[in-house]
Amino acid sequence: MDSDDNLDYYDSDYENQYSDDSDDTANLYDDEEDDSAVNPDDNSKSVKTFTVLQEDDINKRQEDQISHASLILSIPEVSASKLLYYYKWNVSQLHDEWFADEEKVRTAVGLPSDAVSISGTDELITCGICFDPFPIEEFHQMVCGHWYCKLCWKVYITTSITDGPGCLLLRCPEPSCKVAVCRDMVEELVAEEEWGKYRRYYLRSYVEESKKIKWCPMPGCENAIELELGNDLFDVACLCSGTFCWNCGQDAHRPVHCDTVAKWVSKNSSEAENTNWILAHSKPCPKCKRSIEKNHGCMHMTCTPPCNFQFCWLCQGDWREHNEKTGGFYSCNKYEVAKSKGLLDEVEKVREMAENSLNRYTHYYERWVANHKSRDKAIADLNALETGILQNLRDKTLESEGQLKFIKEAWEQIIECRRVLKWTYAYGYYIPEDEQVKKQLFEYIQGEAEAQLEKLHNQAEKELNNFLEKDEADFGVFRQKLVGLTAVSHSYFTKLVAFFETQKW
Ligand SMILES: [Zn+2]
Ligand SMILES: [Zn+2]
Ligand SMILES: [Zn+2]
Ligand SMILES: [Zn+2]
Ligand SMILES: [Zn+2]
Ligand SMILES: [Zn+2]
Repeated sequence: MDSDDNLDYYDSDYENQYSDDSDDTANLYDDEEDDSAVNPDDNSKSVKTFTVLQEDDINKRQEDQISHASLILSIPEVSASKLLYYYKWNVSQLHDEWFADEEKVRTAVGLPSDAVSISGTDELITCGICFDPFPIEEFHQMVCGHWYCKLCWKVYITTSITDGPGCLLLRCPEPSCKVAVCRDMVEELVAEEEWGKYRRYYLRSYVEESKKIKWCPMPGCENAIELELGNDLFDVACLCSGTFCWNCGQDAHRPVHCDTVAKWVSKNSSEAENTNWILAHSKPCPKCKRSIEKNHGCMHMTCTPPCNFQFCWLCQGDWREHNEKTGGFYSCNKYEVAKSKGLLDEVEKVREMAENSLNRYTHYYERWVANHKSRDKAIADLNALETGILQNLRDKTLESEGQLKFIKEAWEQIIECRRVLKWTYAYGYYIPEDEQVKKQLFEYIQGEAEAQLEKLHNQAEKELNNFLEKDEADFGVFRQKLVGLTAVSHSYFTKLVAFFETQKW
């Protein structure tokens, strides 16, 4: 299989990527562009499912809509800006109602068509708020003809901005007057800081009133993501490198549905007392009982000398039994209730059921957490690779950056597979007990995918280190093996995802 087939799916159409593991997506990308596979912005060659909007993009969209509305409705831009906010950026509703009854809209929004004319005067005028007399230059008069001094206006608008986004609907201070305070007045009268806040509220309204745009939930990120309508693929990737489900805001969890994720997340928090031990970094070696710390990503553990026992972090079984060479299938992912021996009285039965249900939950939770941690470790390892290890490799192998690309691709594949595998364990927990056929089929496909991923992760992690440490190691062999495992893992995970997406379970 062409190694180009291993692409981060954010760059490619989900359908192409996962519906089929043949080579038909491979030639869509030439080598040059393959490097940008993880750039979510560069999905021009495939069906776009979402768009990342930065502050400037949102601003530009608002300004474009404002000038368009100003043109169509023949009104100043400040009025168009107020109208669009009032109509929650629903342009067609604004147009319909405006052309049906312009006066009605003007009255509701507070944009009268006739201004009260202002004539110059040499006499002092009394402010309607502070009741002090001032010359006319000290006043800001609105179209309604109510007189307030500039200082009182400033205090009035600033207080409203401090109170929150309600300032966008601010009207004249005269209680019976509904004339709107427009943005040109705000800009003219308040301090720079408040004007900034006002603009920020205005900008946010565009995202918050939209049914297809949401803020990126990553801490500190101010981008928004727009989803293409009619799209039920919710995993999106922001420019901040955060990936999440657009629909429910959780970590990206395709192919598992949002409702399963929501149930699972709340289950985890209610079981936190029972499962804290799972988060520990060390476990006793099943053979010599010494405590072993897990400080790498794959689940294949090797005890320190002289024991050297190789076991599985998850089930603590002999690692050799995880290898299909022994003739058995990969079964670490399967949960089987221990059969009760002999006759139990009612009290014991109830206790055993409670124990089984906790054990069952623990089985899925442990694998969910382990894959989550393993993915985080893989992200850190890929980062370390890019910031140093690749350079060492270039020095050692004299290969070019392009020739070493397969290593980065292997790690990207591991990161994506760990994510998918993690969520399939949440799914597995909720397969009803009486659906044995479905459960067995699911566990078989999941187990096959998991076994391949463990081999790939082991190769990328430990064999790469071995290569770096040894002098006589053959790089060609290492490359061939890693490229092969990357392609095979991709293919198995394609099947796993297809299992979810082709069946309406
Ligand atoms: Zn005043
Ligand atoms: Zn007024
Ligand atoms: Zn973001
Ligand atoms: Zn979701
Ligand atoms: Zn040991
Ligand atoms: Zn195991």
